[in-house]
Amino acid sequence: MSELIDSPAGFVTGAQGPRMLPLVRVYLSGPMGAGKSTVASAVAEQLGTRALDLDGRVEELAGRSIPEIFAERGEGAFRALEKEALKALPSDVGVVSLGGGTVIDDDTRQILLREGILVTLTADPSVLAARVGKGRGRPLLGDDPRADLERILKARAPAYAEAHAVIDTGTLDTDEIATQIAAVRNLSPIVVPLGLRTYRVEVGRGARHRVGIRANEHSAGDAILVFDGNADRPWPADAIRDLTLGGKPPIEVRLPGDEAHKTITSVEQVWDAALEAEVDRRAIVVGVGGGVIGDLTGFAASTLLRGVALGQIPTTLLAMVDSSVGGKTGFNRPRGKNLVGTFYQPKFVLCDVEALSTLPSEERIAGLAEVVKSAWLDSEESVALLERDAEALMAGDDEATIRAVRMSILLKSRIVHEDEHESGRRMLLNLGHTVGHGLEAASGYRGIRHGEGVALGMIAAMRVADRLGRGRPDETERLTQLLGRLGLPTDLDRRLNSRVLGYIGADKKRRGDRIHFVIPRLPGQTDIELLGLDEVRSALEPS
Ligand code: NAD
Repeated sequence: MSELIDSPAGFVTGAQGPRMLPLVRVYLSGPMGAGKSTVASAVAEQLGTRALDLDGRVEELAGRSIPEIFAERGEGAFRALEKEALKALPSDVGVVSLGGGTVIDDDTRQILLREGILVTLTADPSVLAARVGKGRGRPLLGDDPRADLERILKARAPAYAEAHAVIDTGTLDTDEIATQIAAVRNLSPIVVPLGLRTYRVEVGRGARHRVGIRANEHSAGDAILVFDGNADRPWPADAIRDLTLGGKPPIEVRLPGDEAHKTITSVEQVWDAALEAEVDRRAIVVGVGGGVIGDLTGFAASTLLRGVALGQIPTTLLAMVDSSVGGKTGFNRPRGKNLVGTFYQPKFVLCDVEALSTLPSEERIAGLAEVVKSAWLDSEESVALLERDAEALMAGDDEATIRAVRMSILLKSRIVHEDEHESGRRMLLNLGHTVGHGLEAASGYRGIRHGEGVALGMIAAMRVADRLGRGRPDETERLTQLLGRLGLPTDLDRRLNSRVLGYIGADKKRRGDRIHFVIPRLPGQTDIELLGLDEVRSALEPS
């Protein structure tokens, strides 16, 4: 699938995301009349590159005009030609003006989102209709262009929303639009494509300072800031200042941010603070902290007044690469962790690697286990990236951390797009968690951190894959080496005992005496299989 589009010279894509920003290609999408071609030329000029019009390219390749292609061969054939044209874009083209319907195809849209910067240009139907006039030469427009455009915009709204940015061209001039697009390209956010609920994750140094701007974009009401009161770190104070500067001095809710306080009582504190301040449904709740604060904040936002906007500023590595993205919220009950919760997506996530400067190294290391998991699920290229960056990651190097966080979030965003509610592929993210949870539960959640459990659980999963003839011993060795270099435990046999094996049966993914088990064969090649509990337990026996 990723072969669809030839990369322009020097455009390095893949897990690391674009590395050489000057060559990241910009794709402009949107309805007819939105100004794609004009803006494409202006953006190309600002960036010192060349613009290309995809419709023109299709006509060139087909030797016919677009109305002729539609009349003779139909819309399906036209879309196939568009795909062909995208595959073979000249390498010196830095900006592409897409056809109005190019992004309707989900595959094409996801590839464009991954490989470049996809921006939707749009405007009110009456503005668009005035610009296209009578619609001559526009096969999708009839005698009433405004009504047709309204219908087209409605039908395409979920696809158009899945973009790095959506810009209304009705009120801005061409240069202003081009400048906004160049800024989006510099930020290069990661899109979590979920139709009208699409959101963007910004990763970088100083990203936290955009909270005021983002909160205003998504909420016309009050801000409620939920943060970890266990320690005196600067991140909540920064958010208070940035929100205040943006005109939203927040209602502050300080919670104990540890697992023991991930309870309904903490959620109630958020509800009550917001209700006492008489906020309305235009409010936004923003969480600043690790996964505990993030999950509590998400749950509170999803239920307060039946749901208000949510923003996340994760401050642990684990929260950046895992819990802040994907929309799972919740809290613990006496019978177990995360047993009550919702799926509720944030409006924005700001991953500021500077916030990791205060994180104890054992917490960083625990987060690295999830990073390794993401790399293994993703690709050979991502595993090789971590092997190259292992020492830099351990040393807390910002650039290496940004690459690792981006890789993990890109993977997660793809999986969440495919299976938001974990009825299929999203279960892949449980790689290493079945045995990991067993190790955690057997220790009474005290002797071993979650990340350490996941690391050992991944080695265990590789062992199961080997024993079932699906994996390769050299890859198990490779994973073990990498985990060890990242400071994670690898001594599985010393920790596996009958008590741990007993807890594996208590996994919540259990179906009778069988469980969904994630089998890592090779990097980028992982399956979910329903295995008998006895089969798993015997495959885990030391050799
Ligand atoms: P955490 O939230 O408990 O944070 C770990 C510790 O680090 C806490 O003591 C916290 O106060 C501290 N801390 C946070 N940020 C800090 C910083 N910048 N500097 C110094 N200390 C800092 O743990 P976590 O690992 O971030 O998250 C674990 C939680 O996430 C669990 O409750 C788990 O269930 C949940 N989780 C949720 C999802 C999801 O999809 N929603 C996924 C994975 C994990």
